[in-house]
Amino acid sequence: MKAKPLVGIYALTSCSGCQVTLLGLEEKFLQLTEITEIKYFPLIKERLYDGRVDVAFIEGTVIRKEEIETLRDIRKKAKILVALGTCATFGGIASIRDFEDKAKVMTCVYPNPLFLDSVHNVRGLDCYVKVDYALRGCPIVGEEFVRFTTDLVLGKKPVVVEEPVCVECRRNKNICFLLKKKQCLGPLIYGGCNSICINEGRPCYGCRGPMKEANLDALMRLFKRYGIPFSSIRNSLTVFAGTSKRYRRGVLR
Ligand code: SF4
Ligand code: SF4
Ligand code: SF4
Repeated sequence: MKAKPLVGIYALTSCSGCQVTLLGLEEKFLQLTEITEIKYFPLIKERLYDGRVDVAFIEGTVIRKEEIETLRDIRKKAKILVALGTCATFGGIASIRDFEDKAKVMTCVYPNPLFLDSVHNVRGLDCYVKVDYALRGCPIVGEEFVRFTTDLVLGKKPVVVEEPVCVECRRNKNICFLLKKKQCLGPLIYGGCNSICINEGRPCYGCRGPMKEANLDALMRLFKRYGIPFSSIRNSLTVFAGTSKRYRRGVLR
């Protein structure tokens, strides 16, 4: 990669929370702007640039059909495409809609939904285009973004955590919620957040998305044995069900 790689930070349908996390990095984000050239970042710059970039970070996912073309266009212009956040990685919060009556959801939000042209199911970006890397989390972890981008700029292969939250949680010496017969999704979920919720006394609710190898059935059996109502488990799984077949199966059983 050349000395100052060109970077674009794009957004499809999203809440902007991942982009705001970047701005929240303050000094660290400014340091990144010294080793990269940020060509596109509409949250803070005018949308004047329409050219190629070395790295495209894309927040959010496709909800309106026209966003499929926008996404394909960004893919064509980018050497490396990074899904930024859980919406981009596998659908995320917007996928809650898929488990409700869609007509009801639309009329609840828009008085006249006739003009809406939305996709049938909410999916991660990799269902439409090749995604080279994913930075998970709702929102992303700012420090992970810094580490990842610095590695890319230095020409190193970036390290993305592929272990469950439980690994970090054990390292942090937390008392396990499962030992207290309470619901925690940590065994299913990609780590990289330093088990922040459990460190603060709250169980993991799954915001970094389900691991490919996660054993949902075993955890569901355990929750059932503990007497945790299915409605509670369903609510948690629905929030980030997105593209994940496992989560969808868990919600719909
Ligand atoms: S991943 Fe979460 S914080 Fe990021 S854009 Fe989606 S909803 Fe917002
Ligand atoms: S509290 Fe949750 S994340 Fe921590 S070890 Fe137990 S199940 Fe895993
Ligand atoms: S502990 Fe779970 S819910 Fe909390 S930030 Fe990490 S992955 Fe997200």
